[in-house]
Amino acid sequence: MKYLDFEVVDIDSVRTPFDEWPPKYQRAEVAGCAMCGKPVGKAPLYILACGGGLSTIANKDDDAQLEAKDGGYMGCHPVGSECAKRIRTLVRGAGLDPDKYLFKVNW
Ligand SMILES: [Zn+2]
Repeated sequence: MKYLDFEVVDIDSVRTPFDEWPPKYQRAEVAGCAMCGKPVGKAPLYILACGGGLSTIANKDDDAQLEAKDGGYMGCHPVGSECAKRIRTLVRGAGLDPDKYLFKVNW
């Protein structure tokens, strides 16, 4: 689907609402999966979120343009392997390249 000028994917169905996460995952010092709160491995995949939430993801190549144009630019967030699998399926289903929507980040 389109958001502004960008090809984005709705991944809301992958997300567990924050208040339903186990309390141990809700603590701020635990930087876990953005979808479910579970711990992520040492080198997780990331999503680029936009539109003011974590339910819409964009192509990593649009990062700079999104940051400039989208008031709801949310930046990159890690996802665990289980959620990454489900996101990959959604991205494929939308006819887009999963490797552009799930990617490694070298901070
Ligand atoms: Zn997860």
